[in-house]
Amino acid sequence: MTPFVPATYVREVESAVREGGWTIRYLSPTPAGARPWLEHPASDRATATPPPRLYLSAGIHGDEVAGPLAVLAMLREPAFFSQVDATIFPILNPEGLARGTRGNFTGIDLNRDYRGPVTSETRGHLAVLPTLGRYDVTIMLHEDYEGTAAYLYELNDGPITDLGPRIIAAMRRHVPIDERPIIEEVEARGGILQRADLIRKHGPIEARPDWPEAIYLSINHTRVSYTTETPMLQPLEHRVAAQVSAVRAVIDALTKTKNVP
Ligand SMILES: [Zn+2]
Repeated sequence: MTPFVPATYVREVESAVREGGWTIRYLSPTPAGARPWLEHPASDRATATPPPRLYLSAGIHGDEVAGPLAVLAMLREPAFFSQVDATIFPILNPEGLARGTRGNFTGIDLNRDYRGPVTSETRGHLAVLPTLGRYDVTIMLHEDYEGTAAYLYELNDGPITDLGPRIIAAMRRHVPIDERPIIEEVEARGGILQRADLIRKHGPIEARPDWPEAIYLSINHTRVSYTTETPMLQPLEHRVAAQVSAVRAVIDALTKTKNVP
């Protein structure tokens, strides 16, 4: 696989959002490069109701490239985010992506650092997050390095109760879905690991000492959090397409639900 070059990726993101009403800002930089983050108000305001708010992040694990590449593909589609207020963090761990490693340059897993953060990367992210308010859905794009099939983590206390199956159906068009009854030692149904099953395995998630981004968000910013996991043993273009389809399924569900009187 061609190496992931963070500086090139960031230039491509910057180029993709030059048009279309995006605001681009930067988190604390890392030696491997800048960390842009993006905001975009819904341009398609057909109704008087406020547009749904979507949070999307990727690239927190440096060996999982499908997420950042999927974000770039979405940004290159002019109307992809037109119906939502979007906040996007495309590349949270440039050091890891440059090296192809899960953690940052000191080997720390940033996605276990959202409670009492010790890394400059997570501290930089947490310097911005408290300013952002509430989201209807947050979605984090990940990959499973030994996987042949996709699955997702679901924390959904929101109104769209079938959102998980909708995301799975969208991903299934591009990659196989992991139908095993136990995934990562947690009970699963149709590729979905739900809050209750995670609690049964790990205990109350808020009590964990090593919050991932999803737990921080579910406590502070949202009732609905999804973490997609595409299988690294499948071709990259299929994994990218699956991640794009997952986010499109979320936007479709949000816009159709929000507009119902
Ligand atoms: Zn990951």
